[in-house]
Amino acid sequence: MSPVNDREVVLDVRNLQTYFKTDAGIVKAVDGVSFTLHKGQTLGIVGESGSGKSVTNLSIMRLIPSPPGKVVGGEAIFEGTDILALEEKEMRTIRGNKISMIFQDPMTSLNPFLRISTQMIETIRLHTKGISKNEALERSIEMLKLVGIPSAKKRVHAYPHQFSGGMRQRVMIAMALSCNAEILIADEPTTALDVTIQAQILDLIKNLSEKMGTSVILITHDLGVVAGMCDEVCVMYAGRIVEKAETEKLYAFPAHPYTEGLIKSVPRMDTSKKGERLYSIEGQPPNVIDLPPCCPFHPRCPKAMDVCRASYAPITDLGEGHEVACWLYNSEEEKAVALKEAQA
Ligand code: SF4
Repeated sequence: MSPVNDREVVLDVRNLQTYFKTDAGIVKAVDGVSFTLHKGQTLGIVGESGSGKSVTNLSIMRLIPSPPGKVVGGEAIFEGTDILALEEKEMRTIRGNKISMIFQDPMTSLNPFLRISTQMIETIRLHTKGISKNEALERSIEMLKLVGIPSAKKRVHAYPHQFSGGMRQRVMIAMALSCNAEILIADEPTTALDVTIQAQILDLIKNLSEKMGTSVILITHDLGVVAGMCDEVCVMYAGRIVEKAETEKLYAFPAHPYTEGLIKSVPRMDTSKKGERLYSIEGQPPNVIDLPPCCPFHPRCPKAMDVCRASYAPITDLGEGHEVACWLYNSEEEKAVALKEAQA
């Protein structure tokens, strides 16, 4: 199979900006985010709560409540069209059909009063022209089997509360993929689940995406989850992407001090010593209301310099798709020294 980044681009997000108007000021929840998603790729978007990762994807899905939120700039090119500029009626043919989303808690997405069959049939018929009720039921059963629901033929007629948390999330994945979506956006899909089920659900998403050629955007706060799942990672902080790289490269050489902190915070079975305290990044994420134009990580950064407190760092290309927004890599000399230090 060709390297992921050589494959066709299915989504090209350019300079996305989503702001929220509040009484306290303007919240720049997403401020100039750009990335590309390739066919069959799994792209991780990582960051702490409030970093803008969910708002980025809700903006692409055009699900930002307005007011108070608004996409104030940027483009999201899908199949040659900027979907941010589409009429809501046109967007409805894409949302849930070509681009699907699964959320953290499946119970909030499933209607507790309706059988799974009713909900799946409705979704499939809404997005597939000319399909009969029986054909939609057959497709629902097929999809439930595919995601590993035992006795799918019988269970399809059950209510959501008759499934466990993990099984409900499997149902949501089946619904999301039942219309042959080209892109699946999974927003913290395993946060509400225990570790064993979490691993099963992540495996399931990975296997299905490989089998069906679906591209996946995985939103998570957990770099451990990203390691086993994603081809490429975007690290977000305060509404911006601060580092972007192939997963292996990011782990081998985290260039941004925030990424470095995130990786150090992941518990390791092989290197952690008994009784050792887990690493945590000092301080709190910034208040994103009226942020000054400087590196928003500087109050927490052990390597902060005067220039970091004065202006945003430009994006530096470290080669092979590895990009970082940090003043440590400003000049060619500084870049070379920092790279040498990091690789030592
Ligand atoms: Fe730290 Fe400065 Fe880089 Fe920000 S720009 S992460 S403060 S070194």
